[in-house]
Amino acid sequence: MNLANEWLATPPAGQLVAGREMAGGGKPFDIDDPGRATRIAVLSSAGPHDVDAAVRSARAAFESGPWSRASSNERQRLVNQLADLVLRDRELLAELEVLETGKPLPEARACVDEVVAVLRYYAGWADKVEGAVIAAPNEYHAFTTPTPLGVCAAIVPWNYPLSILSYKLAPALAVGNTVVIKPSELTPLGSLHLARLATEAGFPPGVVNIVTGAGDVGAALAAHPGIDKLAFTGSTATGRKVMAAAAANTTRVSLELGGKSAHIVFPDADLGLAAAAVVEGIFTNAGQVCVAGSRLLVHRDSHDSFVAAVVDRANGIKVGHGLEPDVQMGPVVSGRQRATVTDELKAAVRNGATIVTGGAELSREGYFLAPTVVTDIEPTSSLAQQELFGPVLSVLPFETEEEAVRIANGTPYGLAAGLWTQNLTRAHRMNRELAAGTVWVNTFGVFHPTLPFGGVRGSGFGRELGASALAHYTEPKTTVIGL
Ligand code: NDP
Repeated sequence: MNLANEWLATPPAGQLVAGREMAGGGKPFDIDDPGRATRIAVLSSAGPHDVDAAVRSARAAFESGPWSRASSNERQRLVNQLADLVLRDRELLAELEVLETGKPLPEARACVDEVVAVLRYYAGWADKVEGAVIAAPNEYHAFTTPTPLGVCAAIVPWNYPLSILSYKLAPALAVGNTVVIKPSELTPLGSLHLARLATEAGFPPGVVNIVTGAGDVGAALAAHPGIDKLAFTGSTATGRKVMAAAAANTTRVSLELGGKSAHIVFPDADLGLAAAAVVEGIFTNAGQVCVAGSRLLVHRDSHDSFVAAVVDRANGIKVGHGLEPDVQMGPVVSGRQRATVTDELKAAVRNGATIVTGGAELSREGYFLAPTVVTDIEPTSSLAQQELFGPVLSVLPFETEEEAVRIANGTPYGLAAGLWTQNLTRAHRMNRELAAGTVWVNTFGVFHPTLPFGGVRGSGFGRELGASALAHYTEPKTTVIGL
């Protein structure tokens, strides 16, 4: 813990604009360690002037600074250099992530490793994004050139602050854009350090800017006419506000929003593997994962034994502060988040739900909840419909494939689904029917820089990761030459 403590002894001012760290013109705000419910830092929030300054600095760097003349090899070198520095500071960034989010240290380390992998993946693309010669009528020669968009805003939530930031930052920089980052007010510290590393890596001033503070800072950024592209991850409700703000300026948006992903388990599956994946799929990061498998759809034939296996594993999870050894699940991120979860559970019980295990706050400092499994829920109830972002698994039985698909698709969301069966044709059949951006078959929660990720319906649109994300950070310029 020495690294994060040392770092926190002189915390950053809060904003990084045009290569300079500065205090914001807004109100001070606290950053808490959710595992102890104690304040670990105070930053001064950006004011409207700071947001404007950050966008202007990004614009200047894009249009007239050295970034506008940087070759693809230079961009590749700098993004790789940033990856090297993130790797150098892996332990510090992981500790900061534990302190801000509450997740266990090994998971925080995995997040930092993911950032390195994503940066390297998109660095590799910097000199491989190519246009095309178009088969235009004979009297013309026509071609396209992929062109960066300009100033990209990255609005990032608190559950995976570094990973989700890298999904936006890495492709944006690799193809020549400039960026203004807005982390969640709950988790700005790691992102501020990452922005410092961008300066150290040699990105010219103004290429990577960061403004911190509450949702009004994000709202000011989303409404700024100087933004060319908004990449947002967070709740569906806020995503809609971001989209409305963007509409006023015809700013492009990509939205990665909430989910209510279903694990669908058939009796012919490897039920041991499935039970382990179901437990990991909901209790990782205390359920605060956009793709959390928060609904377990299990065939009636194996319902009781499978639920018993899941409950058994859930009861074995070691809950504690993310820096304690062998901890598998930390707290939820805030007192507010914990209250949201417990209120929803109380309402579900009033409506007839049964809490098979968990359901309670833990009597220790920090915002801890026990791993919770709930049965006797109607598919149309709030607990089975709305993203909760807590360690709560809702169990729903089914009898036929059609019923499973109907329940799985019967929410406003469409982010991911997990399917457990050894029947190949059933897997393909259901894959076609499931309304989800990603379907995992006999596995769950697999993320990799090469795999496009995003949702359908209320879970948003536009894909992050993979080659397809590059299209969100460039537009093809068409050139037609008369011959
Ligand atoms: P939000 O969607 O409100 O926050 C996401 C990001 O948007 C944060 O950086 C936030 O800043 C910012 N923001 C807030 N309001 C605006 C606005 N009007 N315009 C632009 N940006 C804005 O999530 P919450 O933190 O409020 O969490 C509430 C619920 O959202 C959770 O319980 C969960 O269900 C869901 N959620 C889903 C996530 C996902 O990955 N799918 C991630 C996080 C939350 P700030 O935090 O400073 O307000």
